[in-house]
Parts: sequence; structure tokens; C-alpha cells
Amino acid sequence: MCPPSPALAGNREIAATLTRIARLLWLRGDSSYRILAYEKAAEALAEYPGSVAQLALQGELRTLPGVGNAIERAVTEYVRTGRVSLLDELQEDYPEGIVELLALPGLGPRKVRALWENLRVGDVPGLLEACRAGQVAAIPGMGPRTQERLLAAAEAAMTNSALHATRWLLGTADPPAERLLQALRGMPSVQVADIAGSIRRRSSTVKDINLTAASDSENEVFAAFAALPDVALVERPVAGVLVAATHTGIPVDLRISPPTSYGNLLQYRTGSTEHNAALYKHAQLHGFTVLQQATEPQLVGKTIQPFAFVREEGVYRYLGFDWIPPELRDDKGELEAAREGHLPQLVTRRDLRGDMHVHSVWSDGKATIAEMALAARERGLGYICICDHTRSLAVARGLDADRLLQQRAEIDVVNRQLGDDGPLVLAGCELDILADGTLDLPDDVLAGLDFVVASIHTSLTQPRKQIMRRLTAAMRNPHVDAIGHPTGRLLLRRPAYDVDIDQLLTLAAETGTALEINSSFERLDLPGRIAREGAKLGIRFIISSDAHNPGGFDLLDYGVGEARRGWLEPRHILNTLPWRDWRKRKI
Ligand SMILES: [Zn+2]
Ligand SMILES: [Zn+2]
Repeated sequence: MCPPSPALAGNREIAATLTRIARLLWLRGDSSYRILAYEKAAEALAEYPGSVAQLALQGELRTLPGVGNAIERAVTEYVRTGRVSLLDELQEDYPEGIVELLALPGLGPRKVRALWENLRVGDVPGLLEACRAGQVAAIPGMGPRTQERLLAAAEAAMTNSALHATRWLLGTADPPAERLLQALRGMPSVQVADIAGSIRRRSSTVKDINLTAASDSENEVFAAFAALPDVALVERPVAGVLVAATHTGIPVDLRISPPTSYGNLLQYRTGSTEHNAALYKHAQLHGFTVLQQATEPQLVGKTIQPFAFVREEGVYRYLGFDWIPPELRDDKGELEAAREGHLPQLVTRRDLRGDMHVHSVWSDGKATIAEMALAARERGLGYICICDHTRSLAVARGLDADRLLQQRAEIDVVNRQLGDDGPLVLAGCELDILADGTLDLPDDVLAGLDFVVASIHTSLTQPRKQIMRRLTAAMRNPHVDAIGHPTGRLLLRRPAYDVDIDQLLTLAAETGTALEINSSFERLDLPGRIAREGAKLGIRFIISSDAHNPGGFDLLDYGVGEARRGWLEPRHILNTLPWRDWRKRKI
């Protein structure tokens, strides 16, 4: 079988070329209109699920948003020749790495030119070195404070690029994985197919898309798979393994076994490595033979010999375990629990009856309260709480006491319109915890709300002591019902603020404040492993969508996945209860 079009450039590569042009135009002081055009096009092309290169060759590039004449010319030239003459021209006077410098916070064209002209610093590693040697501070107009900031930015960029090279957000990899799965399941020669690997385990970031399928006609499946519109690069398949990539650059690994041993394949390919190692060690201790794990392909469907199982449950049962939900497969006590029949009854999406953290056009949401309510109804939710931002968060058009009152009036109207079909719309807010530890609205205003989620959105770099002072003040306030996205992490972008987890959990338990598991796949915050510790202390959680538009409710699936990774059951989650059964205020 031949790869469909191995020489065609991938979407990410093309987008990166446009971004490069945009940055170099910026460095030259070109018009911001022109720069923006390249940036916007780069964004659109990177996200396009089909092949941009193919579109260019068919002359249909301009059907994509943001693609005008100049962009079309550049992309087509790149796809045909691997170069763009405009880029060559722009690049003439500078080294390759200079555009990475332009991406650093605090570095504009003027400073980048100064770094190059004074020190011949033309990339991030060079900047790091020059900062450490104290040379940057000596450039006129820079000084020691700038040097310090640039050093931090360069260090962060180095770690970030290492992270980014290998990992994707679950929410980025999940939709293409799901499309590929449906395509596989639709193939006549495929009997069963699944998503395996870290996506199946609902890991918050993943390396690749792992797929497994049961079939007796391996070659037929591989050929059909390679021709799917989502599949870009394909390597020649070897012994049951096909390695490919999506147009957006996510690696894809498809393994096929005969139906008789499909259970073994799915179990093995779901991982985690730690879980499998512990499982096979247990098997060996109990007299089973495990094949040497020499090269990957030899393992396919033959991990545990001579026992072959059609279903994954068979593997676990044969070794004396209950079937273990994939989210728990981390070698963190799940094997013991499965052996003793003590696995948790994990929360599912269907258990959620309401959503306590929903935005609307009143702050930075994209839909009205009524539109959000109807979207919630379609998804089977019985109640939602409108928690828009409060006044200090001006960028999000936060609400003050007066606007909250007006909003309450609209909520009353919407509730009347919704009638018995629901959902019940509650009035709350996402209360900003300010830098000095005070809360953004006075107690008498908070007392009038149905539910208050308090969150930190600003001054994220404060020392641990001050961060904890802020969280403590919020949790000790009798009107604060929950802490939103409690660690503030943004996956692959920004670590958590400096939070003392033990203290956070102790305080939540002590004050009866719920902790949120925020379902935005950039956050998934509180992380499951911390939630698991919290549950042991009797803490209750809410799983919230933090939806900013109607489709945002679908994010709840990700929050549920994170909660399951934390071994949480419905009894740990407040919004699995009907609203009337809530003990609204803390003790
Ligand atoms: Zn927030
Ligand atoms: Zn929010």
C-alpha cells in the first residue's frame, strides 16, 4: 500500500510558515493590518481538519476563512516548492531563530533588533546565555530589570517548547480521535474498534491517538484508514501496526488483532505503562507466562500467552480482577481494589443533574440566559446556576450589585418562560478573590444569591502565603459555596499558582466549602489526583462546565473524566443531587 501523498506539507507546517512571515513583517515595522492577516490565516489553517495542501493544489484555498490573495499565493507556492519567496526575502538579514524571540512576552521588534545588533543574539538559547552572562543589562535602554524579565521568559519558553513537542490537550485530541473511531467502526471488515491509550484513560494531556480494531483483514483496514480525510501522513504498516498523523499534527497509532485476541490488545494498548507493569508482574507471580516485550509489534494481541480473550474483561477476570475502568489504570491502588471487589462506582455524565458555573452575555459569555437554559435542557440538566464574573474583572465585563439585581429580574422572567420543563435557572456569581484577599462584592449582596463560586483570576504570581491568605478568606466567608478552578493551572501553558494543597483541602473540609472540578479542557482543575485526597477528608465537589456558550455544556464530559481519575463517586459530587436536596449554605 502506498502512502496517499507523503510529500504534501502538513497544516501545522504551513501555518507555522505564515506565522513566521507575520513575525518578520512585525520585526520590519510593516502595517499591523497586513501582519494580522497572516496571523489570522495561520490560525484558521492550523485548525482546519482536512488537508490544506490539497485544497491549495485544487485552487480552493480561498474557501477558508481569512484567506485572501496574498495568503493563497504564499501557501500555494509553499506547497509546490517548499519555499515562499516573500519569506526568503524577509529572512535575509536575520537568523532563523529570531522569530522565536519575537514570540516572547516583553520582547517587541525594537528590543529584538537591539539584541541582534548589539550582541548578535538571534534565538532563545542565545538570549538565555546572554542574560545569564549579564550582557543584556548593558544594552542601552534595557537595564537589569529587563534582563531579569527576559531571563524568566526565555527559561519558560525553553520548558514550554519541550512540553509542547510531545503533548496535546485531551480536548484537542479527542474530537479527531472520535471521528477516526467512527470511521473505523463503519468499515465492513472491522468487527470492533476502540480508542485506547491515554485518551481512553482521560488523561488531561496526551501524546498521541491510540486506536485498536479487531479484524481478520488487516491490510484492507489499513488501506481504508490511510485514505480517511482526517489522516495525513502514513508510514508503511508493519505487523499489525499503522503509524500516521492527523492534518493538525497529532500522531496516530492504529493496531489490529484478530477478533479472538482483541481483548488482550485493547487491554495492553490502554495502559498505563505503570498499570500494565504491575498487572503483568502479578500475573508472573501467579505462574502465568508473559511474552518478552521486545519490540512493540510482537506484543500485539499476544501480551499474555497462551490466553486470548475476545473482550478486555476476560483478561482481568482470568487474572483474578474485576474489570478496571480505564481512568483508574495508573497503578495507584486499583489492582488491589479490583482484586478485593472494592472498586469505586465512578460518577458518570448521566449522574449530573445540574451545572453550577455557567456564564452568559451579562459578562463574557456568548449567549443569553435563555439560550443557555435551552441548551442545558437539551442536555438533560435539571438546573443551572448563572455565575457571571464580578465587577473587578473588567475585561470580562464583570457585574456589580446593581447589574446583578437586574440579572436576577431576567432570570425570574426566563424561569417563568421555561415553566415545568425547566431547567431551573439559579442566580449566582463567579466572585473574584482580589489580590489583597478581599472579595469583590459585599456580604449583603452575596447573601441574596443562590450560589457563589469564588475564583482567583489575577495576581497569579503572588507568593504562596498571599495566595493562601486569599483562598482562606474566601473559604471562611459564609456566603462562598465553592472555590472555582482551585489551582489556576492552564494545561501546557501555565502552571498552578503557588497553592498549598494540604492547606487548601484542610480548609475546604473544615469550612464545608465545595471545590470545583472545572471541565474546561485547558483547566481540568481541581486535578483528579488532588480530588481523590480531598474526598478522603470528606470534601464535596461540584463538576462544572464553566460554559461560555451553548456548546460549552458538552465540556462536562471532560470534567467527569477528571473526577473519575480521582476515584470520585456520585456521592462526592453535589450536583448529582436534585437542587431541592442541597444543603445550600455551609454549616
Ligand atoms: Zn474563572
Ligand atoms: Zn467562569
